[in-house]
Amino acid sequence: MISLVVVSHSRPLARAAAALAAEMSSAEGPAVEVAAGLDEDTTGTDALAISEAVTRADAASGGEGVLVLLDLGSAVLSGEMALEMLEPEVAERVRLSAAPLVEGLIAAVVAAGTGADLDACAAEAVRGLDAKRTHLGEPGAADQTPGDAQGEAADDPCEWGCIEVSVTGEHGLHARPAARLVTTAGAVSPGTRVRVRNQTTGTGPVDALSLSGVATLGAQQGHVLRVEATGEQAEQILAQIADLARTAFGDEPGPAEPMADVETPAPAVSEEPGVAGSGLEAAMGPAVLDQTVPEPRDLETGSPAEERGRLGEAVDEAFDRLRELAGHARRHLGQGQAEVFDAHATLLRDPELSADADRRIGEGRPAALAWQDAVDAVADRFERLPDAYLQERAQDVRSIGERVMRLLLGVTEPESLGEGILVVDELDPALAISLDAAEIQGVVTRRGGGLGHGVLIARARGVPVLTGVGDRADVTAGTMIAFDVRSGRLEIDPPAEVQAAFGDMLDRRHRERERALADAHLPALTRDGARVAVKANVSSVATARLGAGLGAQGSGLVRTEAVFAQWHRAPTVEQQVEVYTAMAEAFAPHPVTVRTWDVGGDKPLDFIPVAEEANPFLGVRGIRAFRDDPGLLLDQLEALCRVARTHRINVLFPMVTSVDDVDWSRARLQEAARRIGLSAPPHQLGVGIMVEVPAVAVRLTRLARGLDFVSIGTNDLSQYTLAAERGNPAVSRWSDALDPALLQLVRYICDRAPQGVVVSVCGELASDPDVAGLLVGLGVRELSASPSAVPTVKARLRTVSLRELQDLAAGAVAARDAAAVRELLLTAP
Ligand code: PEP
Ligand code: MG
Repeated sequence: MISLVVVSHSRPLARAAAALAAEMSSAEGPAVEVAAGLDEDTTGTDALAISEAVTRADAASGGEGVLVLLDLGSAVLSGEMALEMLEPEVAERVRLSAAPLVEGLIAAVVAAGTGADLDACAAEAVRGLDAKRTHLGEPGAADQTPGDAQGEAADDPCEWGCIEVSVTGEHGLHARPAARLVTTAGAVSPGTRVRVRNQTTGTGPVDALSLSGVATLGAQQGHVLRVEATGEQAEQILAQIADLARTAFGDEPGPAEPMADVETPAPAVSEEPGVAGSGLEAAMGPAVLDQTVPEPRDLETGSPAEERGRLGEAVDEAFDRLRELAGHARRHLGQGQAEVFDAHATLLRDPELSADADRRIGEGRPAALAWQDAVDAVADRFERLPDAYLQERAQDVRSIGERVMRLLLGVTEPESLGEGILVVDELDPALAISLDAAEIQGVVTRRGGGLGHGVLIARARGVPVLTGVGDRADVTAGTMIAFDVRSGRLEIDPPAEVQAAFGDMLDRRHRERERALADAHLPALTRDGARVAVKANVSSVATARLGAGLGAQGSGLVRTEAVFAQWHRAPTVEQQVEVYTAMAEAFAPHPVTVRTWDVGGDKPLDFIPVAEEANPFLGVRGIRAFRDDPGLLLDQLEALCRVARTHRINVLFPMVTSVDDVDWSRARLQEAARRIGLSAPPHQLGVGIMVEVPAVAVRLTRLARGLDFVSIGTNDLSQYTLAAERGNPAVSRWSDALDPALLQLVRYICDRAPQGVVVSVCGELASDPDVAGLLVGLGVRELSASPSAVPTVKARLRTVSLRELQDLAAGAVAARDAAAVRELLLTAP
């Protein structure tokens, strides 16, 4: 990160300005040195003190550069003298800024905090007065966008229209929504200019046509953006951007398909409904190394015009190829994956990126090096962002960088990579989509996490990927590699016996998966004839259809708070009827169990605000959120009653604790039925409660009286039983749902459930084929798993007898701890 030096006649003034700037900077800001006054009280400037401050700042910047902000008169002269006193190589990295001291300093500190380089920070500092001048409508109000910083003349005085919009998407303004904003802003006549700033963090403004600029505003969910436009189409473009923002910048689907599945996908589970993963989640084979782009060396440099021409051609060719890939992805993987390539194409045409490369070419750099440096600078900015998801977008920048570099250096992409395990630093989306799954059995990445677009695409195609293994993957081509995503195990050059064991495991998983898919629609009967219903947990109409296609016998849990998670206004009764009917039709003739809004804890809903609490998991959650104002619950129950007149629907109440909760919930259902002119809920509407609070398990006999079913939510039941928050890695060792205490509770619930009340499990445990059998051994006869797990859970149950499962369960409840239970599962039949 660059550093700054404040030069002023007054030390208190310089210190106060530096303190103010530090307050404005959101993230960890840059080092700011002060060289001001002759002493605490005497005004004046001292060239030696300035040169010493610059030397310190230079050391703190790690060679990234120093920007010097000065007040006036002799401060400027002293600054120039100080430069002459510095070592020449240090002086080269120092820029004196003509920007106004306070505004310039604040703008530069904020820009430096986002990782902007020296040029960008200097440009931001000079634009420091823009906001104030625009606001005051002064003639010549600064309307320089980052594009202007590259030397473009300022516009004539003009009016900037402005709107403020909220960022509502889960991942903020990440690459795809940012690309949609850039595309929308780009659809204007050349006379219209649009810029964006992040009001929440004070970053920007950036040119709305610059994807790198927009994405590195670091806009996260909840941030407010100020969008300004000037020119003939300003009003129109602001209206379009406001519309776009209302759909979470295109991340919020329409009501017919409320939301993509939000269940945590198992590693090899398809991200796209309808595309089933291989399910093996493991692979073995010789290492295949991707052909890396060689370091550009000894490049002949043509004139700047020639170099610009070469770069322009390479960018155009890369752009065409990305559009082709987007088309291919749209046809084979769906819109979501296609947008990755659209975003790459937009990034390729990013005006800031090309202006930076252009400037470097102007300084005499060959096209390849200029491009490489410009790409590195943008990637670097992404990597410094605080949000993990946005950090991983640096992969996208490097990916397009490499694509153009190949073209500039004449390195062709190989026709075929060979057969085996592909080992790469990061998985490029283009490579991921063109991988021949018959040849590449799996991918191991050194860097990057599981959220990279390339990784998501590969997984969507069923290719197992083990990510972020570091230098353990520094292997030569042909080295034997074996890995298992489920356990995270990676074997490099394993001995013959380990290879044999891995081979057996792969064969077993392969056979299991094949058989499971072939028999997905058969019932799950144990060898001795015990029947288990295996249903699917769903969070959208698409996953309902996927689950039904994979043999799920209905849905044991529709997480309605997930279905409508991205809605800002509550869905109407009619909209809900549409969604629940579509789900019921997907599973017909099997029933669908719809859980009422489980808001609170870690599940916020914009349209059901819950007060901030010190312990939200122990606070107003689930049914508790409606005790004072049942309005939206009544709407939901009305929708369910309407659908239940013609379809098989069950209603499930979450976070029930007391008998009173059950009575109150049932009374609301009765009230909802009356709203549609019925004296009671339709008779085929089953009613049940979640068992996720230990007290419910303890008094189940009483609570479950008169209900049709109870559904054990092992995710919450374990966090409440073991007093260890789900999802908190610091306490994960205490929150293992396989803890024998939890298994005992499950057995207790099965034993105590009144006659005729079905006991189901819909927590994550039910999606693990090994554990599913254990649950059956404990007495459970209905499981609801993630859709892709349904065929394997059913298949596993068919291979065992109830007797064996009961023995396994007896051993598990008596085991010392969760680790011992896992050991038992390994040796179980
Ligand atoms: C559970 O708690 O196990 C459950 C299924 O509900 P959720 O994970 O949605 O809280
Ligand atoms: Mg729960």
